[in-house]
Amino acid sequence: MSVLEELGLTRVINAYGTNTRLSGGLLDPAVVAAMAEASLITVDMLDLQAAASRVIAQATGAEAGIVTAGASAALLLAAAACLAGLDAAAMNRLPELRGEDRFGGGRREIVAIRSQRNMYDRALRVAGARIVEVGIPDRVSGPGVRDAAAWEVEQAIGPRTAAIYWLAQPQSLPALPEVAAVAQARGVPVIVDAAAQLPPAANLWRFIAEGADLVCFSGGKAIGGPQASGILAGRRDLVSSALVQMLDLDLPEAQFVPPPEFAPLATLRGLPHHGIGRSCKVGKEEVVGLLVALRRFADADPDTRNAAWTARLNAVMTAAGPVPGVAMALLPDGAKPGLPLLVLDFTDAEAAALAEARLRAHRPAVHLDASRVTRGMLAVNPIAVADADAALLGAAIAACCAG
Ligand SMILES: *Cc1c(COP(=O)(O)O)cnc(C)c1O
Repeated sequence: MSVLEELGLTRVINAYGTNTRLSGGLLDPAVVAAMAEASLITVDMLDLQAAASRVIAQATGAEAGIVTAGASAALLLAAAACLAGLDAAAMNRLPELRGEDRFGGGRREIVAIRSQRNMYDRALRVAGARIVEVGIPDRVSGPGVRDAAAWEVEQAIGPRTAAIYWLAQPQSLPALPEVAAVAQARGVPVIVDAAAQLPPAANLWRFIAEGADLVCFSGGKAIGGPQASGILAGRRDLVSSALVQMLDLDLPEAQFVPPPEFAPLATLRGLPHHGIGRSCKVGKEEVVGLLVALRRFADADPDTRNAAWTARLNAVMTAAGPVPGVAMALLPDGAKPGLPLLVLDFTDAEAAALAEARLRAHRPAVHLDASRVTRGMLAVNPIAVADADAALLGAAIAACCAG
């Protein structure tokens, strides 16, 4: 009996994307094998994260990196690092801060550009930061053409500023190099949320190269790592601070020997207890699985990856056959270069919504990308679909979408 049967569960076909509520994506057998291997041994987590740092540094160009329990966890740890630095007492106080903290003298504000606010930035506040917004995004609200300017970000930086937050999206303004330049001039680190900005794989490097001090990626999205994994990459001192705020450091201080990957920890006076990152701790299976997935993702040829996704979508389209009232076409996902989508155009929002509901009621339930449903469109995202399910998915589309 399969574990799903034992639990009385039926699976779903996830053609929406690597959405968390649909359990993310599928793991390559090489990733599963690495996780299984890790699950049968015990390791020193500090050594494991040091190894992770070497792999992440190689894949991103950053000085250091750690595996986290997701991009949201990476954001929380990034904020904690910028708020407490290498001050163990400040780490112990988070999410409360005191004006007299040695590091930064009461720096507790993170500057965010108003048009980039999103509910994931809550992770910064969980760590204890207060968000200070800048800019009037009237290009987004309609009456104007501008967004925040770099000079506004600069003007918002003061003695209480712990960091600048920048959301990596193709439309994000001001551009990261401009924001990084004003932040650098004022000695304030920039935290970049690049959770879903892969592919292209070049984005693993891009934000560090453009001046980010810390970058957060999801492991469970396009990288193909475990659902509950992520990456925090960046400056060695900040990554080291983040690490000790997640690791269990319940040991006599004399026994704590930082590896070279986290050398700045040698300057710690005392050790923090269970840090604010304890509630998003990462397991050895996730660390190992993410590292194997990251290497595979970084080394993969983008054309080969695109060809596999395209072939999967073509198999779905062939299995569906012509569907009355629906125009089907393979189109590039505008935001993610290299990711094709199979777009189902109903030209009618109601018809698209009806088909979407029918697909969800199908057994196994089928979830299509419904982000364009009000424009009368659904899409098949190939990233979390098994090749073996292409025919079943096509048949479900034929059965549920005909007008
Ligand atoms: C998905 C996402 C996150 C959260 O990533 P997890 O790895 O699921 O924690 C954070 N920020 C943005 C912009 C995202 O798209």
